[in-house]
Amino acid sequence: MEENVNKTILITQSSMPPYEEYIEMIKPLWESHWLTNMGNLHKELEESLKKYLDVPELSLMVNGHTSLELALQMFDFPEGSEVITSPFTFISTTHAIVRNRLKPVFCDIKASDGTIDEDKIENLISDKTVAILPIHVYGNICNVEKIQQIADKYDLKVIYDAAHAFGIKCNGIGVGNFGDASIFSFHATKVFNTIEGGAVAIKERRLYEKLYNLKNFGIRGEELIVGVGCNAKMNEFAAAMGICNMRHMDEAISGRQQVDEIYRSRFENTKGIRLFDRREDADKNFAYFPIVVEDDYPISRNELYDKLKENKIFSRKYFYPLTADQACFRNKYKDVSLEVARYVSDRILTIPIYEKLSEEDANRIADIICGK
Ligand SMILES: *Cc1c(COP(=O)(O)O)cnc(C)c1O
Repeated sequence: MEENVNKTILITQSSMPPYEEYIEMIKPLWESHWLTNMGNLHKELEESLKKYLDVPELSLMVNGHTSLELALQMFDFPEGSEVITSPFTFISTTHAIVRNRLKPVFCDIKASDGTIDEDKIENLISDKTVAILPIHVYGNICNVEKIQQIADKYDLKVIYDAAHAFGIKCNGIGVGNFGDASIFSFHATKVFNTIEGGAVAIKERRLYEKLYNLKNFGIRGEELIVGVGCNAKMNEFAAAMGICNMRHMDEAISGRQQVDEIYRSRFENTKGIRLFDRREDADKNFAYFPIVVEDDYPISRNELYDKLKENKIFSRKYFYPLTADQACFRNKYKDVSLEVARYVSDRILTIPIYEKLSEEDANRIADIICGK
């Protein structure tokens, strides 16, 4: 008992396949010496992810951030064009826009689920707007129907940051099918990991070819460079990790679901702890467990964060501050009211959830939050 009370619990723990399984998978590399450059494991993982995510085309990448940068770059938007996005996200989303020499136009979010407020998008459109970049934050799926309507009306591209939405289907449609492109992250901290990795889902072969050039220096032959590109290839060791982890996805998700169910039942009647709504027509991957610490909770979000930490439980103020409020972006872009986003960001806390988090530990965390 004593031991358990003092145990450190981190926000997440990366899923890993059995050691022997991974070793079996990488063994052939000592024969082939083919360690990267679209090897067999890269090809195998790309194909199986395409099936799993149920998307027409998918390009594997070295990480989620580069996937975002290249997904934006493949549309050749004029420099200085505007991209409407949400500031309630990991900093990567905003960095990808700015590093493409595009201007983020921040849009407020909905308090109900943390996704971009589709009713506030249209007001932000100018003659410089070229795209909308919404985030399926915590795996909460955006109002993809309304966003597509707006994009069609104004002839805008839609690129989804689906880093949190791995494997989710909405009305039976893989989430990577919405918009013109969706990016996924396979970082060690995500539901599905390749240690570091990511992918861009697109609809046309033409864009697959374009991404291929962008991720491999534009090389199309020993003496032929067809375009300017960078190096964003996933290596064989990462792909091997992905192939192994793919085999255990069901266990990974159901382990997380058990934790999610414990938390949900424990917080149902906890005054001041609010949970986000989730689309009923979308399934869940239980990637995160965000709680909104409302003003009628006995202590503030920051105090709860500290209280958990005193008990060696490490939660995250994820996402606080808003990306728009970070020193590198503050007061630089269009001044838009982000009232709801600031409200949520000031009260948000994500608490530990991962496949192997025990029932006992989940209840210990819930005890602290419920004030037991
Ligand atoms: C993790 C993440 C990224 C970046 O992915 P990496 O694989 O870490 O580069 C981008 N956007 C969001 C919302 C993320 O959570």
